[in-house]
Amino acid sequence: MRDWFSIIGNINRPVLGEEIPILIFRAFRIYSGEYLKDLMGEKGAVVLFQNAGRELGRELGDKLKDEDLERYLSNVQSFVKDSKIGLLVVEEIDQRKAVLRLDECITCAGMPNVGARICHFETGFVAGIFETFMEKKVRAVETKCNAMGEETCEVTVDIE
Ligand SMILES: [Zn+2]
Repeated sequence: MRDWFSIIGNINRPVLGEEIPILIFRAFRIYSGEYLKDLMGEKGAVVLFQNAGRELGRELGDKLKDEDLERYLSNVQSFVKDSKIGLLVVEEIDQRKAVLRLDECITCAGMPNVGARICHFETGFVAGIFETFMEKKVRAVETKCNAMGEETCEVTVDIE
């Protein structure tokens, strides 16, 4: 894939600046997601968002890489916080699995319970971050989401 992250980083908005309200980000995100669901079905849309997030996670993982896992994750936590994606908290980590929480998640924080976990992009992003470090494919599942009434966003990564 092209290095889109660098390309889209060129922003020329002298009047409006570089920030937008979260509501507008969520609107882009959710409306695209719902349309995709109509087009490709629920499963297809989930896979698409997750793989897109995975791609970004890998690309950013490369930029933030450190051979020490703790330092690497700390770099990722700083990036995620500085770019206001959320507050990434490592809840549990060992050889086999990792559980990470994304408090104040950009996509779902404060959302009422709509009966579905919706942060597929973030889930893929976390998977991609681990893939860069492990140099292999990992499975990730969103195990909690505000949109499911679970009060935070949580991703469980199957490292094995
Ligand atoms: Zn969520």
